[in-house]
Parts: sequence; structure tokens; C-alpha cells
Amino acid sequence: MTEELKIKAERYERIRNIFFLSDQVLLFLFLFLLLYGGKASLALRCWRWTAELCRSNFWLSTLLFVFLFEAAYVILTLPYEYLKDYRVELKFDLTNQTFSGWMADFFKSSLLSVLLLMAAFLFCYASMRYVGEYWFLLASAGWIVLQIVLGMIFPVLILPLFYKSEELKEHPCKEELLKLIDKAGLKITGLYRLDMSEKTKKANAMLCGLGATRRVMLSDGLLEYLPEEIVAIMAHEIGHYKKRHIWKLAALHTVLIFLGLFILSRVLSWYCGFCGLELSEAGTLPVFIAVFSLWQLVIMPLTNGFSRRCENEADLFALENADNLAFASALKRLAAENLAVMEVNRFIEIFLYSHPATGKRVALAENYKARS
Ligand SMILES: [Zn+2]
Repeated sequence: MTEELKIKAERYERIRNIFFLSDQVLLFLFLFLLLYGGKASLALRCWRWTAELCRSNFWLSTLLFVFLFEAAYVILTLPYEYLKDYRVELKFDLTNQTFSGWMADFFKSSLLSVLLLMAAFLFCYASMRYVGEYWFLLASAGWIVLQIVLGMIFPVLILPLFYKSEELKEHPCKEELLKLIDKAGLKITGLYRLDMSEKTKKANAMLCGLGATRRVMLSDGLLEYLPEEIVAIMAHEIGHYKKRHIWKLAALHTVLIFLGLFILSRVLSWYCGFCGLELSEAGTLPVFIAVFSLWQLVIMPLTNGFSRRCENEADLFALENADNLAFASALKRLAAENLAVMEVNRFIEIFLYSHPATGKRVALAENYKARS
């Protein structure tokens, strides 16, 4: 990485960190404004209005209230998202998208998340209505099912909404990649080329899908790398499969989500008593989101720490099964294209990084043969 690129990456990192902080400030400010005033809060007044409009029909009023809440948040934060996800990427020369292309993607992803959240909250409030104070048990089970369903449909229904992909036909290292996959005992439906370059300058590789939809996706940018670099990146992805990281991470998240939902159930019971609401009334939504978002922040160092450990294991697997110097050069190339910094402040790494800092990964790869 040249000195100029290093400075650019550091500036980009600083801006991303500031945006992470402002994301939280904006969300909690929005929730605070809704909850301010206790029993006479804006949230409760809106909820009573929604329930009246829907003639207290549980399903309709819950769906409409969640929709209004999410839609208001999307609309209010649109200028901020434009600045964060489009202007900044444009300034750092990381995007290939036009403004209209970005807007189309923004509305698609917002619509998708609003629909998903409507279904998820409806399930939670229906659990409260029919199961009572132990609703968090059913909600935890629902969360597991949702993860499995999303994992299965991600490569075939969600990813195609944003990127084109096709089965990788001719490529100099296709045979070698298939050999590596076969040797690991990994069952996939195919190797796919993901057309990311029409939207971003960033490169990526992933093993995604579950069961009948499991596949390896390589971005078109990554396919321009040297064959030995692509093989090394693929070996890292296979490392995740061999070490069962997807299941381990899913198990950790399930335990933490269960704990979070349990804490949330206690807070909601208290809040309902305080405001005179039934447990299953969606007027508690801002409290639901506040507690859950706070819980996500609290567990971040733990989930990211575990994820970094998994990434380190996958790196070691790649080093055992591919060329270490090719892996190091692929990491450096990826870092330069994605404007990733080499060295990270330890506190920021613990809190925000799902991967070890690139500098550490490169050093591990370059010194690998010397250590073994
Ligand atoms: Zn990885």
C-alpha cells in the first residue's frame, strides 16, 4: 500500500467510525422523541390512533403501526443514508453507481427490511398475545427458523435483487477451485460469478446458501486476481466450512438473542404496567427496539471477538492448504481495493471488527512458513 493510499484508507476508516456512532445517536434520538412524555408520549398517542383506525383489530393495528414506525424512520434518515452510503463512497472513489441506481437499491433494501420487520414484529406480538409472559421462548424459536429460511433464500431470492450472477464457465483456476472444494467434502450447487463491479470497486468472495442453495460466489473483480490468489481466498472460505464456523456463530447468536429477548420481556412487562397497556399491544414498539438495539451494542465485542477467532482459524486453514505468499498478496490487494486500514486501534478492533486487522493477517501469512 502506498503512503497516499494509506492516508486515504485512514480517513475513510475515521469517517466510517463516526458514521457508526451517529447511526446509534440518530436511532436513540428518534426513540427518545417517541417515548418522551411517558404515558402521554408521541408513540402511545400514535398507537391509540392506529388501534382506533383499525377498530382494535390486533393483526391490522400491529402491522400498520410497525409499518408507520419503520417507514417514518426510513424517510427521516434518507438524507443521512445518502450522505453515508453514496456521497462518502463516491468521494473515496469506491462506487460505480449512478445516483438513480443507488436510489433504486436503497428503496429495494428499505422495502425488504420493512417487510421483514413487519413479519418479525407481528410474530413477536402474536406470541405475546397467545403465549403471554413466556413469549420470548417462541420468539427465540422463530428467530432460529428465520435465520435458516434467510440462509436458504439469500443467494436465490435476495442477492439477485441487487446483483446479477451466473455460473462460472471458463476460468483458468476453475478446475483447481473445484478440486479444493471436492477435497474438503463441501457440497455446493455451483461456482458463481457475481457481477459487483457495475456497482462497486470493492471485491468479495463468499460461501452462501444452505442445503440445496449452497454455492460459492466470487465477485467479477476478484476473478481478475492471479489464479493462486483466488485459490488462497477460496481456501479461506472453505476453512469456514471445515471448522463449522457458520453453525458455531449461529449457536452463539441464538444464545445471545434468547438472553436479549428474556431481558426485553422483563422490561416490556414493566413498561406495560407503567403505561396501562396490554402486553401484546404494539404501542411498546419503541421500547422493544430501544432495548434490543442496546443489547446488540452490548454483545458486539463478544460476537465480533468470536468472529475474529473464526476468521483467524479460516486464515490458518488457507495457509495450510494454499500458497501463503499468494494469500498475503490477495489480502493486500483486497485491502487496497476496499480501502481497509492495515493497523487498527485495539479498542475499535475489539468493538467493531469482525475480522482481525489486515496488517495482522498479512503478517501471519507472510511469516507462516517460517513458523511451521
Ligand atoms: Zn472469512
